[in-house]
Amino acid sequence: MKFKKLMIIILAALFCISMCGCDSLERIFGSSDPYYDNYGYDNYGYNDPYADNKYYSVAPQLASHYIDVGQGDCEFVEFPDGKTMLIDAGPADSADKVISYIERLGYSSIDYVVATHPHTDHIGGMKKVIEHFRIGTVYMPDAESNTSTYSSLLKAIDKKGKKIKKAKAGTKIYSGSTSQLKVQTLAPVMDSYDSLNNYSVVIKITYGKVRLLYMGDAERESEEQMIKKNYDLSADIIKVGHHGSSTSSSQSFVKKVNAQFAIISVGENNDYHHPHNQVVNRWIKSGAEIIRTDECGDIVVTTDGDEFGIDTEKGG
Ligand SMILES: [Zn+2]
Ligand SMILES: [Zn+2]
Repeated sequence: MKFKKLMIIILAALFCISMCGCDSLERIFGSSDPYYDNYGYDNYGYNDPYADNKYYSVAPQLASHYIDVGQGDCEFVEFPDGKTMLIDAGPADSADKVISYIERLGYSSIDYVVATHPHTDHIGGMKKVIEHFRIGTVYMPDAESNTSTYSSLLKAIDKKGKKIKKAKAGTKIYSGSTSQLKVQTLAPVMDSYDSLNNYSVVIKITYGKVRLLYMGDAERESEEQMIKKNYDLSADIIKVGHHGSSTSSSQSFVKKVNAQFAIISVGENNDYHHPHNQVVNRWIKSGAEIIRTDECGDIVVTTDGDEFGIDTEKGG
């Protein structure tokens, strides 16, 4: 019977979800095609994972790419109106990868560039990226660093004739917000912090029913301030703060976010032992599935605002 067969497939899918890991993700949400050829829209979907190329959505799509840059952070967002946003650009040695990744998607310009905070694993690759692409507006928190990476990035931005806009909670980065699409800056809430990580620009994107949260390296102090501000932190997909370090993802914060998927951008066998076990377990206990760049490679979330699909580079 057809119905019975469908139930078995659904049960099998649920089992795979509970097993975690990229292999199962690829099967459930992803296509078997190379993600970069055809990461989009027609052959995978949250709602109809087993339809062979039968899923066509007419709604405009939003795609969020979590680019595997080793130990660092880099996310690239394609908005439904064609505008793009880069959040961090990984360490210096990942610049070429980030450039070719964005070019492969068909872009020669980036509308919004956000440096969450001036640590080299986030801004190291940004100088080359800024030199390479046509750039719209550059956003940074009001934090400085005395590293040569930071000063050479400032020089590159200046050479492009761009001024840096300061970003903090409430700053409007993306100008095309509608009732369907909202891009909010939730942190930094305060003007000064002891830890550079807490200057991290935290961004929440809401597209229809689907909510994505990008934490940079924000730590406990910043999390507490966002909770105190009563911000709506709930998200379907979170880019976990500070590579899954125990400095971040406090119990109360994890509970507020209540994510379905927790993406950790992290290098294989990194010196910091990121992600920390207790943090991974905290997200899992809260009901989230962990997806790690060191295990899955590049991760792509696409959504029409109603449902979302996740595709990963490795596995399957
Ligand atoms: Zn970092
Ligand atoms: Zn940092």
